[in-house]
Amino acid sequence: MSFDTLGLSAELLRAVAKQGYDVPTPIQQLAIPPILRGEDVMARAQTGTGKTAGFTLPILHRLTETSEPRGRRVPIRTLILTPTRELAAQVQQSVRTYGRYLPIQSTVVYGGVGFGPQAQILRRGVDILVATPGRLLDHVSQRTVDLSKVEVLVLDEADRMLDMGFIHDIKKILAKLPSNRQNLLFSATLSKEIQRLADALLNSPTRVQVENTTSTADGVTQVVHPVDRGRKNALLSSLIGAGSWTKTLVFTRTKRGADRLTQHLNRDGIRASAIHSGKAQGARTRTLADFKKGSVAVLVATDIAARGLDIDRLTYVVNFDLPYVAEDYIHRIGRTGRAGKTGDAVSLVSSEENSLLNGIERLLGSRIPKESVAGFEPRHTSDNGSRPNRARANGAGPGNNARANGNRRPRRMTERSGGRPAAAKPGRRGGFSRGSRQS
Ligand code: AMP
Repeated sequence: MSFDTLGLSAELLRAVAKQGYDVPTPIQQLAIPPILRGEDVMARAQTGTGKTAGFTLPILHRLTETSEPRGRRVPIRTLILTPTRELAAQVQQSVRTYGRYLPIQSTVVYGGVGFGPQAQILRRGVDILVATPGRLLDHVSQRTVDLSKVEVLVLDEADRMLDMGFIHDIKKILAKLPSNRQNLLFSATLSKEIQRLADALLNSPTRVQVENTTSTADGVTQVVHPVDRGRKNALLSSLIGAGSWTKTLVFTRTKRGADRLTQHLNRDGIRASAIHSGKAQGARTRTLADFKKGSVAVLVATDIAARGLDIDRLTYVVNFDLPYVAEDYIHRIGRTGRAGKTGDAVSLVSSEENSLLNGIERLLGSRIPKESVAGFEPRHTSDNGSRPNRARANGAGPGNNARANGNRRPRRMTERSGGRPAAAKPGRRGGFSRGSRQS
């Protein structure tokens, strides 16, 4: 099935194509048609299934189809509630991404940041508001938001909202909405509580559900190397050089970052090339061919460029920067260890990225083993429970790089090993507790 058959407008299909999506995910195939028809929907789908586009695309379609002449103040027509600030920010980013070719205004409100600027934007008016419940209620009580014209309500990750104790807040918000509206409820699980909420909220809903897809590829060994931001370049050269890594895909967040890192690796004698949307298609095709045949050992890519790249037998995926969107981590590391093969996913994480790491671990439902590399222990104690390992392997020290190290593989140190080199490849560890309530 292709996106064209779903009945979405040309502007939305263009935005989807720009994202590099070829086919709708199962939740999108199931949820988009009934939402377009204006039906209430109850969906069981986890993060990672493509659910955000599953509700955002048809909502954008309907908003533009039934758009009313704009007054000076645009009323809020769609309200999307999410349990956490991070998710709210991500959902609004999706609204912007998919609505890039449409005249739709959106904003996001959540706690922990200034109230005034949010109130100002709300006063000017937006079509779509993404919010966490607590801060939204603050705006309600300050009369800085008007919810009386909401046509569509989305409860995203409803089960998590209930877990986090938001039910009373949600009820207060529901009381401010007009009764004639479309309701969409997305939840990873369908407990009795969710069912009760659905019964109270939804009007003859269409029910859809998909299997979860957030499990990481089997056979992928994950590890986090804590390191100061300014030493990531040197650590990567050292790991690649000392381990003679080939077939390595390295992810950076920006095009400039990809170019800078590639230059650094080349200076260290490593055959690396960058691939990103700032490069001409011809250069990208050549680079990819060189990488596939092995004359380039390391491909440095941004997420967008790497999406859709068909490369098999990757042995290493390196997160030089952690992605802002936790699901992208799963997409990235899913590129190694495919089809029964084993692979390594290595993340270089500076203390500034600890909150991103927490988000990824929450999504995975487990902690990723953390190992300092001798000579590259971070100087700053992180706020993530990771302590720098003061032990140093023989000969390894600042300035360590591939050439300086010859072919000696740097020894990995586990935090639990008291400074002794780690014996074996790390496995996955479980036991992650849920995040705390935020709004
Ligand atoms: P979500 O479950 O909404 O958090 O989406 C998970 C990830 O899937 C996001 O990074 C999206 O960009 C991506 N995604 C959504 N729809 C598609 C699609 N049809 N094809 C490929 N990737 C998609």
